[in-house]
Amino acid sequence: MKVFISADMEGTAGVTDWDQVMPDRHDYQRFRRLMTEEVNAAILGALEAGAKEIVVNDSHNTMRNILIEELHPQAQLVSGSPKPHSMMQGIDASFDVVFFTGYHGAAGTQNAILDHTYSSATVRQLKLGNLVVGEAGLNAALAGYFKVPVALVTGDSTAVAQAKKLLPHVEGVAVKEPIGRVAARSYQPVEARRRIKEGASRALKRARDLKPLTLPRPVALEIEWMHTAMADRCMLIPGVTRVGPRAIGYRARDVEQAFTLAMACLVLARSTL
Ligand SMILES: [Zn+2]
Repeated sequence: MKVFISADMEGTAGVTDWDQVMPDRHDYQRFRRLMTEEVNAAILGALEAGAKEIVVNDSHNTMRNILIEELHPQAQLVSGSPKPHSMMQGIDASFDVVFFTGYHGAAGTQNAILDHTYSSATVRQLKLGNLVVGEAGLNAALAGYFKVPVALVTGDSTAVAQAKKLLPHVEGVAVKEPIGRVAARSYQPVEARRRIKEGASRALKRARDLKPLTLPRPVALEIEWMHTAMADRCMLIPGVTRVGPRAIGYRARDVEQAFTLAMACLVLARSTL
């Protein structure tokens, strides 16, 4: 079994604030270690259940958070940014399953720690067809394009519940209970890791019964931005249409094209800040 892990940071046990997850902030060094250890817990669980090869993609912010010297030696690490497939860089049809660790709720989700979709400063809502998706949804759809199912999601309880709505058979491990956007009741890291390791083992054992998230083609992508200037900027891309004062649309031939178009729009939207 070959496992791809997309590792985000906001859904790590104990994280409630940007001060803990942004590289220039005072608590970051502590929490990047805790993030690394949660990824290790998922790796250990996967290895126990028979995984032979594990690739971890660092998926948070600069994508240079995981401490490689503390990562389990049987895993390989993809790090740095930008990367064409961003939080999913490295995914292809050779993998059996995907794990999402440290994930958070989509932009606009109530009671979800640091809810956002790829960029808290720019994205208000992202849709694939009729589905409003957060990072878990968009990334699961890209995995589905490669016919790989998502087997495990870890993060706060709201993020896990949100992922399960779209991926009903995914194994979910909630490491904390949000109290609004920037407060939570959390498991202590050692206990959180115990739960993640067990969840990863269970997830891998059930992997053969899981179905990838596949969307019909073509795929209608729609992004509503925080400001009109962001939508203005995206109109530079041929084929992009204006579907609202703050919203753009694109008819993509498949999920992979919708994904890369969304990444290009994010760069343009951020250029207005
Ligand atoms: Zn993140």
